[in-house]
Amino acid sequence: LPGLTSRRGVLVAGAVERGVFDMPGAATAGLDGKVALITGGASGIGQCTARLFVKHGARVVVADIQDEPGSRLCAELGADAASYVHCDVTVEDDVAAAVDHAVARFGALDIMFNNAGIGGAACHNIRESTKEDFERVLSVNLVGPFLGTKHAARVMVPAGRGGCIIGTSSLASAVAGAASHAYTCAKRALVALTENAAAELGRHGIRVNCVSPAAAATPLATGYVGLEGESFEQAMEAVANLKGVRLRVADISAAVLYLASDDARYISGHNLLLDGGFSIVNPSFGIFKD
Ligand code: NAD
Repeated sequence: LPGLTSRRGVLVAGAVERGVFDMPGAATAGLDGKVALITGGASGIGQCTARLFVKHGARVVVADIQDEPGSRLCAELGADAASYVHCDVTVEDDVAAAVDHAVARFGALDIMFNNAGIGGAACHNIRESTKEDFERVLSVNLVGPFLGTKHAARVMVPAGRGGCIIGTSSLASAVAGAASHAYTCAKRALVALTENAAAELGRHGIRVNCVSPAAAATPLATGYVGLEGESFEQAMEAVANLKGVRLRVADISAAVLYLASDDARYISGHNLLLDGGFSIVNPSFGIFKD
């Protein structure tokens, strides 16, 4: 059926008549010529995304407090494609310097991935939760993305070439009882920041979105849950809505790549849940049980 099959092999009836294949950016996930800054890029989701972005043609600044793995990653990706910078996202001067480093090293900033985060204390009891932990989690997981968004906008707006800002929120942004009070508050507020920034920055052609994954095995998640490897994945699969597939960091990076690419050029202010439908199901009804 020539003309009715897209480059990804999906049958699109009427596609030729509607001229969808003439749309700029359609069916391309390339980041050629783009410059990205990834906080928390030394590990887990950030590291996987740095690799994927480079594979798709971007040049990447990896910003983290873990200098050794961050530097090693960038050495592996090559000096033409990646550069490491020490950056504590709770320190405004560090965030400002990381953004300036991206512009100085690669000439621009097109994609800001506010991904750095901590789990904090795995305490789900408000009577035992501490103010110190609450403030620390909000500082890294919310103030960090605020600073990242602020300084990305500082260079993106005057550059006049649009841009894309993506945050890593969490399933906890949509479901209560999934994480500590501190983590839940930070991740829900990150969705509010995403929406508010999308409202402000749209007039400059800057899109702002976030991804909200369920649990994927990273040092943060396994440390929080207290299970490793296969045991961690089995425990997550047991409570999942979608069976037969396990969420991996690569799935999250693929969603981030999509949001960063021109494929998502009209998507802004969106919280993209990667939870296999978990957050929209109330299992207590059980009406679809076989
Ligand atoms: P990870 O521990 O592998 O990576 C987190 C990275 O953030 C680390 O490299 C760490 O050094 C860095 N970091 C921590 N504090 C920082 C700071 N102050 N300044 C700069 N960097 C800092 O964990 P991950 O799972 O890849 O976490 C990435 C993001 O994904 C976090 O925001 C986390 O809340 C979110 N998230 C993870 C999951 C999951 O299941 N893994 C689910 C939902 C959301």
